[in-house]
Amino acid sequence: MRFTSLTTKTVKDSSQADVSRNAQLLLRGGYVDKLMAGVYTYLPLGCRVLSKIENIVREEMNKVGGQEVLMPALQPREIWDTTERWDKVDVLFKLMGAGDRELALGPTHEEVVTPTIGKFIQSYRDLPKAVYQIQTKFRNEPRAKSGLLRGREFRMKDLYSFHVDQASLDAFYEEVTAAYHEIYRRCGIGDITLLTYAGGGIFSKYSHEFQTITEYGEDTIYRIPGTDTAVNKEIVDDEGAMADLIPNYKKGDEKNLEELKAIEVGNIFKLGTRFTSAFGIEYADEAGAKQPVLMGCYGLGPSRVMGTIAEVLSDDKGLVWPDEVAPYHVHLVSLCRDEADIDRCENLYNTLCEKGVEVLYDDRAGVQAGAKLADADLIGIPRRVVVSPKTLKEDSVEFKPRSDDQAVITPIETFISVLMEKD
Ligand code: ATP
Ligand code: MG
Repeated sequence: MRFTSLTTKTVKDSSQADVSRNAQLLLRGGYVDKLMAGVYTYLPLGCRVLSKIENIVREEMNKVGGQEVLMPALQPREIWDTTERWDKVDVLFKLMGAGDRELALGPTHEEVVTPTIGKFIQSYRDLPKAVYQIQTKFRNEPRAKSGLLRGREFRMKDLYSFHVDQASLDAFYEEVTAAYHEIYRRCGIGDITLLTYAGGGIFSKYSHEFQTITEYGEDTIYRIPGTDTAVNKEIVDDEGAMADLIPNYKKGDEKNLEELKAIEVGNIFKLGTRFTSAFGIEYADEAGAKQPVLMGCYGLGPSRVMGTIAEVLSDDKGLVWPDEVAPYHVHLVSLCRDEADIDRCENLYNTLCEKGVEVLYDDRAGVQAGAKLADADLIGIPRRVVVSPKTLKEDSVEFKPRSDDQAVITPIETFISVLMEKD
């Protein structure tokens, strides 16, 4: 992609537009635009990042046997009455449809998925089943001041599983837990994301959250000593739970736990029969007797993950995208002025494109080197390659990983072959 063709430009000052760090950087880099608090447009660069995150999620969900579906955001009141949640979910957006029909915009999809998939469950032979979607959710969040971290309209992957018994649910829950770890690893936040015990379990003692450690986080968690797991603050006061989770735990010990701020990037629950019993979803066992179907639900917010990466992995110069989610893999900066040099830079761009490398090519004429380099830092593509009259004299380019301070001069051929080995 040529800079001169890109729809967006970097934005000088967004200080009035948003207070959160992730939104500031993403607005300035031209990744998103804000329509109102908690509601954003994903511009071409932002769309590429979001799609890459969603594709990682999709691949990992497919690996655990999830089958992709797409459910409606627009939902009738009746299904929310069936589960008695119409008045209980305080963030539910309610609206009036034609013929005075009361509707909601889906904040989550248990009310849709349970009766829908239930239609295909008759006997034990029909189980287990798991479906997921990657879709836009709506929540009327009272405070939407954290950029992509807390949207009123945001992206969620929600997986739902259906089982004959607890053992089947437990085993699948473990598989999904491992898939989540893999997703965060591929998104570059694996080593700072902790599996966290939380309340809110409907059919189990706990639900599990995936919490990414950062001082900007809204949640407080306590790391269990010597492990990569943590406990959410809301359950620390539950002495019984703490004794369960931490060997030899005594009251007062919580004072010695490491307290961390974190962002919840995922949340998984064992729902048991909470929703299947409301909708009367049963299966016939081998003896033909009716049995309740057990469910699990597994949420993950791709747009929140994108905001988290922007928030956590950036530096004072701008964004720093991990490889797998970066909008492009190479940021090619031309500092060439005369025609012969420009031609050579164009050739390099074309060669890389032909080899399938995703390149953002700063081909702008009349823009100072300083401004181009500042834009490259702000946009945060993992590899910066500068081509100038000086480097071309040596048939070389100047190469710098975004996360390094030092640039190295590399012969063009070496640069291309090293890049191809990586890809
Ligand atoms: P929170 O406690 O932060 O409000 P939640 O526990 O209500 O979130 P879940 O219902 O568990 O959220 O949603 C599943 C996932 O969807 C969350 O783990 C998070 O990654 C994402 N998510 C939830 N609410 C939002 C939001 N308002 N904006 C962006 N992502 C969200
Ligand atoms: Mg949650």
